[in-house]
Amino acid sequence: MSTITLGATTPADCLRCRNCGATVELGPVHACVECFGPLEVGYDDAALARVTRAQIEAGPDNIWRYAPLLPVGHDPASRVTLDPGLTPLIRADRLAAVLGMRALWVKDDSANPTHSFKDRVVSLAATAAKALGLDRLACASTGNLANSVAAHAARAGMESIVFVPADLETAKIVQTAIYGCTLIAVEGCYDDVNRLTSELCELDEFATTAFVNQNVRPYYAEGSKTLGFEVAEQLGWRLPAQVVVPMASGSQFTKIDKAFTELVAIGLVEDRTVRMCGAQSAGCSPIADAFADGSDVVTPVRPTGIAKSLNIGTPADGPYALDVARRTGGAIASVGDDEIRAGIALLARTTGIFAETAGGVTVAVLQRLLAQGRVDPDAETVIFCTGDGLKTLDAVASTAVPSATIRPSLAAAMDALST
Ligand SMILES: *Cc1c(COP(=O)(O)O)cnc(C)c1O
Ligand SMILES: [Zn+2]
Repeated sequence: MSTITLGATTPADCLRCRNCGATVELGPVHACVECFGPLEVGYDDAALARVTRAQIEAGPDNIWRYAPLLPVGHDPASRVTLDPGLTPLIRADRLAAVLGMRALWVKDDSANPTHSFKDRVVSLAATAAKALGLDRLACASTGNLANSVAAHAARAGMESIVFVPADLETAKIVQTAIYGCTLIAVEGCYDDVNRLTSELCELDEFATTAFVNQNVRPYYAEGSKTLGFEVAEQLGWRLPAQVVVPMASGSQFTKIDKAFTELVAIGLVEDRTVRMCGAQSAGCSPIADAFADGSDVVTPVRPTGIAKSLNIGTPADGPYALDVARRTGGAIASVGDDEIRAGIALLARTTGIFAETAGGVTVAVLQRLLAQGRVDPDAETVIFCTGDGLKTLDAVASTAVPSATIRPSLAAAMDALST
């Protein structure tokens, strides 16, 4: 195993097991040697505590303004990135009125370079890969990760190999292949694809390949913290009362919580427990089901349904996500495909934001949790729109159609408009 220097300025000082707490040196590893538990980046608390709001505000208008709170990318020349982040936080008063809420914002990550939140995690993973001496990017993906890995590799002039389920949306296939990567469509679901890449990852032929959500997963996962950092900064350096986050592996969900916790710990925001709510689709709801059952065990499922970007049947962060939701007084719920389509339309009509199916899941779960009394309609709420509707046009193509199709004459136009 190669060891590395992530740069003298990094506040990261180890990888720590999320199960047993054992620590190892920063390197291209993701599983604990003691218990096989997942590793995450550990920090020197004193180094984090020195970071100031002014220092962050003086940084670039993208995720790298938070570099002092991240493990890699402190020297701009070291970054492998499309410079994602600082996406709009939009006050959604018209959506709030429909839902009977008082203060609602949408964090719109469709505004990232490849139109999903995945650019955040890939920028961290690819930058770590370079620091670790790995020269090729690879991944198993439900779609958006594929888009982002291929684009990052293209920007950096790196080779990339991307594995996806063969039944992915056309837009996500096209938006991956166009960047010139090696794209392998696998006849199986994401979990089959992921098992395949974890086997490849162990082979000597792939010793210098960064599988962004496998051997460099600890760094990848830190990228999701920037969503939490941005929301806090964009609200004027304070935390919302509650958030709703879509879940696939559950990684983003747990890392947004980690970001809020770190900001409190280092004194950049006032202490507040943010109620963390997770959103899944009924076609793939292993974490929501465990939550409903009061169970700590996430039982794998075979995913179905239109929210393909969230279709991970064996979610790696499932148990940690359950823990976060329970510890913060949050909840995890799921909604069916019709509710997802209705959620996409409601968001579009009240905010001007066209979200992919994952966004429909989030809006519909917010409605569900409001109806169940599990989120407070009067408390400040942020929901995360993690991907662009143009990626999943098929989901709504049959209902989003012209009001009329007419001949180009004044009479026909007046006729169409009068009915
Ligand atoms: C990947 C993805 C998520 C969630 O990912 P996690 O695996 O839970 O971190 C959410 N929304 C979209 C659009 C995604 O592509
Ligand atoms: Zn361990």
